[in-house]
Amino acid sequence: MSESDKNYNISDLGEFGLIEHLTKNIQLNRKSSIKGVGDDSAVLDFSGKQTLVTNDLLLEGIHFDLMYTPLKHLGYKAVVVNISDVLAMNGIPTQIIVSIGFSSRFGLNYIEELYEGIRLACEKYQVDIVGGDISSSLTGMTISVTAIGQAEPGKIVYRNTAQVNDIICTTGDLGGAYMGLQLLEREKEVFKSKPGVQPDLQGYDYILERQLKPEARADTIRFFEEKEFKPSAMIDISDGLASDLLHLCHQSDLGCKIFQDKIPIDKNTQKMCEEFDIESTTAALNGGDDHELLFTISTGDYEKIKDEEEIQPIGHMTSPDFGCYMISTSEHEIKLQAQGWRSKEE
Ligand SMILES: [Mg+2]
Repeated sequence: MSESDKNYNISDLGEFGLIEHLTKNIQLNRKSSIKGVGDDSAVLDFSGKQTLVTNDLLLEGIHFDLMYTPLKHLGYKAVVVNISDVLAMNGIPTQIIVSIGFSSRFGLNYIEELYEGIRLACEKYQVDIVGGDISSSLTGMTISVTAIGQAEPGKIVYRNTAQVNDIICTTGDLGGAYMGLQLLEREKEVFKSKPGVQPDLQGYDYILERQLKPEARADTIRFFEEKEFKPSAMIDISDGLASDLLHLCHQSDLGCKIFQDKIPIDKNTQKMCEEFDIESTTAALNGGDDHELLFTISTGDYEKIKDEEEIQPIGHMTSPDFGCYMISTSEHEIKLQAQGWRSKEE
C-alpha cells in the first residue's frame, strides 16, 4: 500500500472501497477458478472432478481471544482449519470465500493485517480467494471461511468406511495446541492482574505456534498420492483424538483399541504438561485444535507407511462389541470418551 493510502480509514473507503482495497492484488492461479472477486458470483470449473465444500465460523470471544491472538495469525488459522477439512476428505483445496464482520474499534490497518494472514495461507496452500463479504458489526469480530476443493471420483475418503482390523494412524504429534492455549490463558490472567508485566512466552515457540499458527497436512495427502493408496477412513483432529476417533468408530459402526504409549506427543508439549501438572495423554485425547489427520488403513497397506516419520500407527479398529478403548502404559483398558476418559473397571 502506498503512503497516501495510509491516510484512508475504513469509513472513507466504504464497504465496496474496502473490498476493492483488500482484494485488488489477488490473483487467480487455479485452472478451476474461472471468475473470482468482482461479479455477483464466482465461477468454478472442476471438469469431471467431484467438489468438496466446507465452512467454519469463528466468533470473537468464543473461538478466539484478541488479547493474545495476532490478527495475522487469526487470518492464517481461519483459512488453515477449513483447508484441513478438505484435506481430511483426501481432497485438494482450491478456492476459499471469506466473510468478515468487525466493529468500529478496528481501523484499516487491523483489517489489512487479518487479510495478510488470509493471503499468506492461500499462498502456502495454493488456494485462490474467489469471493466474500465484509460488514461492520455491533459486537465482536466474526470470520466465516468457506473452502472449496476437488477430488477425482473414487478418491474421496469418508469417516464411515473403516473396516475391522484396519490400522489407526495419526500424523504429527498431539496435544501441543491445547497446551499453547493453556499458556496463553495463564499469561492473560497474569497480565490482567498486573498490567505492567510482560507475558513470559520465551522458549515456548512450539506450542504457541501449534495454537496460533497451525498448519494443515497437505504433505500427507501428497504422500498418499505418491504411494498410490488411500486410507479406508479419515477425519482431521479438531476436537481432540478421543472425540475424533469416536466419530470414525461410530460412523463406521466399529470399536477401537489404541495404545497410550503410541500416541505421539512432542517433548515441548510434554514439558508444558509437567509445568501445568496435566497428564500429557489427556491433552492429546481431549485438547483439540491440532489439525493433524487421523485415518485408518488396511493391514496390507502397512508397508507403505511404516517408514514415514510423520505417520504414527496408534492401534486398530475392532468389532463394535469390543467398544472404544485405550490400553494404558500400565496395561489398563481405559474407555475413550468425547470429553474425559475413565477405566473399564469403573
Ligand atoms: Mg473436520
